[in-house]
Amino acid sequence: MPRTCLTACLALALAPASQAVAETTSQALPATMDMLTHAIAARTVEGKDQVPAFAQYLAGKLESAGFAKSDIEIIPVEHTAALVVHYRGSDKSLKPILLSAHMDVVAANPADWKRDPFKLVRENGYLYGRGVADMKTNVIALVETMMRFKREGFTPKRGMILVFSGDEETDMASTRELARRYHKAEFLLNADAGGGTYDSNLKPVVYQIQAAEKTYADFTLTVTSAGGHSSEPEPSKNAIYRLAKALDHVAAYTFPAEHSDITLASLKATGEHTTGALAQAMRQFAAHPDDAKAAAVISADPAYVGQIRTTCVATMLDGGHALNALPQRATANINCRIFPGDSVAAVQATLAKTIADPSVKIDVKQPPPVESPASPLRPDVMNAVAATIHERFPGVDVVPGMSAGASDSMYFRNAGVPCYGVDPTFSKPNDTFAHGLNEKLLASEVPAALDFWHSLLTRLAK
Ligand SMILES: [Zn+2]
Repeated sequence: MPRTCLTACLALALAPASQAVAETTSQALPATMDMLTHAIAARTVEGKDQVPAFAQYLAGKLESAGFAKSDIEIIPVEHTAALVVHYRGSDKSLKPILLSAHMDVVAANPADWKRDPFKLVRENGYLYGRGVADMKTNVIALVETMMRFKREGFTPKRGMILVFSGDEETDMASTRELARRYHKAEFLLNADAGGGTYDSNLKPVVYQIQAAEKTYADFTLTVTSAGGHSSEPEPSKNAIYRLAKALDHVAAYTFPAEHSDITLASLKATGEHTTGALAQAMRQFAAHPDDAKAAAVISADPAYVGQIRTTCVATMLDGGHALNALPQRATANINCRIFPGDSVAAVQATLAKTIADPSVKIDVKQPPPVESPASPLRPDVMNAVAATIHERFPGVDVVPGMSAGASDSMYFRNAGVPCYGVDPTFSKPNDTFAHGLNEKLLASEVPAALDFWHSLLTRLAK
């Protein structure tokens, strides 16, 4: 008998046959790493149509752990699929907790990577592979946690439902389908947002719960004119000149400063963990959101301007049809990141007022933007997440935050479900290269994710 088996096997032998036994994370780790190896090898990138097979693999694992076939559903959506798994609670009057993750990954060209992106590699304390950070580690950690709960015989009061999408990185059609079917929920925990930050010495700095994301919207500006021969110019009617003028106005305009409980708490925490003029402005703004000077300092930093305002910026330009003809049409795309609570229509109206030229047409680009209201900072969720993080890192700051968007939470928030991004992993700033080359995650974060989900979900669902 291997020594490691001694305690667990003894406990198993002593327990009555019907009574399941509590497990430890180290017992769950080998099976987790096996599943993660399989997950990284599954090429769930756009165009390869591998998500349904991956969902089937996860379903098989869950069935082998005792989930009824009827509690597992794979919903085909176009070339991809969503996976839904019910963990039933004892109190049917309670609305369930949704657990959100996505099974797809961003494309990766093996020729550009140092190692095969579709092979899990462990090196110098890191795990490498496409999706290891975004976000197959959490997909597997959530599935393993559900399997562990089943083996342990855990019966929560409140039910839990895994809602895994299959095209979060592209069309989000499977997300829309999930939100359409499963919006009668108490709240949603999204493993694809929020998370912890280490400093360069791997000391934990702060943990952020994502409670809001900005609404993404594109507007098309169109100017048309009669055109004609370029040898007979009429500058006041020229579509390109008129569009350029409109863009000048957009460039010069700044949306008013805004704030919410979430952004004030997050700016305060960031201000306290950093130094310099920007940090001071953040602390000042958090205490006095009407301080225009502090707002101006924060706005001068591209990384933070979006935390206190709606922002709009020109991103594409097109115009004219021949080198020697007056333009008949000129268009530009304006990309806006809208502060939660502001409507797309209000931003469109502000653009119209700013441009102040009725001959410039302003259209909302289709499909229509999804407005994503901020989620309330529920004490039960905030406290449970903080208590869980403090089991690993006592005393580390746990603060709410708003991201530039957009995750699967957008459709659920839009459907009225409060959503909280609670990725259990910590990383150094700009260290994981999610979506990029040589994506990696500290190997220490896999057992940490298992601990986190087991502990957090026990707290919230029991
Ligand atoms: Zn993601």
